[in-house]
Amino acid sequence: MTTDPENPAKNASNCEVCHLTRSRYRCPRCSLRTCSAACVTRHKRDRGCSGVRDRARYVPLGAFTELDLLSDYRLLEEAGRQVELAAREGALDDPARVKRQQLPR
Ligand SMILES: [Zn+2]
Ligand SMILES: [Zn+2]
Repeated sequence: MTTDPENPAKNASNCEVCHLTRSRYRCPRCSLRTCSAACVTRHKRDRGCSGVRDRARYVPLGAFTELDLLSDYRLLEEAGRQVELAAREGALDDPARVKRQQLPR
């Protein structure tokens, strides 16, 4: 399909889509190396690859940044902390009293 005769096969870290640029990303699904969002999109179209790990939230490529990753991580971290906190309160306090102290939602 897109076999580039000028691609120096020795350079294994080049983008596997355009073969021109050093790769910066790796497809989470099939581990294909890519250099840019454009090449990721092209790879996904060519190979029919979803480009996402199973169970991962779908984020449009154009909108996905490292900040999204961070905020996702922070959200998970926060949720985990709240669950932990609630579990600890429930374990330490009389369940009936905890229930009374809870704020109405
Ligand atoms: Zn590329
Ligand atoms: Zn892929």
